[in-house]
Amino acid sequence: MSPTGRPEGEYRSAQHEGRPVSVTVSPTRAGEAARGAGGAPEALLTLAGVSKKFVKSLDMAARLGNLLGAHVREEIVHAVDRVDLAIPAGEVVGLVGESGCGKSTLGRLAVGLLPLTEGERYWRGRPLSGLPAADARRQQLKMQMIFQDPYASLNPRMRVVDIVGEAPAAHGLIGPRQQVEYVGLQLNRVGLDPTLMRRFPHQFSGGQRARIGIARALAVKPEFLVCDESVAALDVSIQAQVLNLFMDLRSALNLTYLFISHDLGVVEHISDRVVIMYLGRVVESGPTPELFAAPNHPYTQALLHEVGKVEPKKRTFVPVKGEIPSPLDPPPGCHFHPRCPHAMAKCREEAPPLVSIAPGRQAACWLNAVA
Ligand code: SF4
Repeated sequence: MSPTGRPEGEYRSAQHEGRPVSVTVSPTRAGEAARGAGGAPEALLTLAGVSKKFVKSLDMAARLGNLLGAHVREEIVHAVDRVDLAIPAGEVVGLVGESGCGKSTLGRLAVGLLPLTEGERYWRGRPLSGLPAADARRQQLKMQMIFQDPYASLNPRMRVVDIVGEAPAAHGLIGPRQQVEYVGLQLNRVGLDPTLMRRFPHQFSGGQRARIGIARALAVKPEFLVCDESVAALDVSIQAQVLNLFMDLRSALNLTYLFISHDLGVVEHISDRVVIMYLGRVVESGPTPELFAAPNHPYTQALLHEVGKVEPKKRTFVPVKGEIPSPLDPPPGCHFHPRCPHAMAKCREEAPPLVSIAPGRQAACWLNAVA
């Protein structure tokens, strides 16, 4: 589905096809982001000024109407709006926000599954746009995505040995005769019995299918994984097992994660740093303990307000009062102002920049400028 809940096919990705993507940040700023702010270690992956828009093309009736002077315009969904994000090697970054805030789109942009409308991606400080095709393919293997619904993301007609072994064989990481042994190693690594590799996905439980999805991603030896609601479809006890598996793999393989979730308990448990998104923009980020102990942005405070009263381990997402505005027509200024109890005149006119509020912490709120 599209960011507005419409069928995906109705929207086309707004990109500069056949042309280099435009970079909206200065080289200096991009370089700073890639090196990490405030002398932080060099980032593994940096998103600099990244935006994504989806455009709904006009149908025949609208085009005919325009010929008659109706002035019907294309609808544009502003899914991600000039996001800067630097992820150091080995870090687990939790990405949180309400449904429709653009976090899944940002995850897809990070791994290159969607083309950017604006901005640039950097890998260890080097821009990823304009790479020769062979380099781009090699680079792409280092970034993999693990999806929410393991059943939907596994081909039901393929056996596990082929699901897990297909990509490494296609990319020349293994020879044809090594596939069975290699897949056995991958399954072992994620806690699955290698003797089951001839089975089809429907012959496994939900937790086992999640492990197959992880094995498939690991089979091409990635360094960076985007986990998009990867445990959301699992029972709580299975969730804990899979989360522990993620953490074990992080230590064993020196992996870096962007962990997308609406479940604040999961994010608090697994993340070193949390990034909060609202309507396509990052509104706050910081180390997990500090951000959960003292949220700065009114949106983060609202997210954590109710959950702060219950047992920390059982924290769940609580919708903030009011509806998230449509990304087709985001409010001017601070996108959160229609729902913010502290909104001022300036909030309705000018978007607050994301600024440093403490070591390692950033927030985008005019209250910080007033304070
Ligand atoms: Fe609220 Fe204004 Fe801060 Fe936005 S900038 S969160 S509207 S106080």
